[in-house]
Amino acid sequence: MTERKTVKDYIRTIVDFPHEGIMFRDVTTLFSDPRGFRICVDQMLDPYAGQRIDKVVGLEARGFILGGAIAHQLGCGFVPIRKKGKLPGTTISQDYKLEYGEAIVEIHDDALQPGETVLLVDDLLATGGTAGAGIKLLKRLGAEIVGCAFIIDLPELGGRKLLEDLDMDVHVLCE
Ligand code: 5GP
Repeated sequence: MTERKTVKDYIRTIVDFPHEGIMFRDVTTLFSDPRGFRICVDQMLDPYAGQRIDKVVGLEARGFILGGAIAHQLGCGFVPIRKKGKLPGTTISQDYKLEYGEAIVEIHDDALQPGETVLLVDDLLATGGTAGAGIKLLKRLGAEIVGCAFIIDLPELGGRKLLEDLDMDVHVLCE
């Protein structure tokens, strides 16, 4: 009998994307496979089953795909954190450092009520800059962050340590 594929087996690597020297971990092959997508979503929410989660918060853009599926499975709402200028309502903003320059993410200022419990999700954790900015936005709205779930962690880039130093529960499916 052949071994069943793990989440990692469905992810492919594209060399030199978006720049020369970058090994891009492409999760579209995971998302497009019915079994791959299902086991990925199930494994991401598994540690949080039975905990009170009011909203799943997804980071643009692949965090929307995961977050929608996870929120549906948990029977809770979904809230997007988007890049600057994309959300139509009144927002609060948070900047963060990129390798070259900086970026800004935003959330609607009425997306969460103080004390609501949230699960933050994205596809990949690298330096932790994006997730760290998301955490700052959630804290500014008074949300209680139950955990941060990712498919992939790139441990050499230090994101996990950064989030754990912020006292976050970090859940990843593979490195
Ligand atoms: P960080 O802010 O932790 O340095 O980078 C993580 C963000 O960049 C995530 O939103 C993630 O979607 C994106 N990202 C960076 N590198 C990759 C990659 O190789 N594959 C994928 N799928 N996303 C990446």
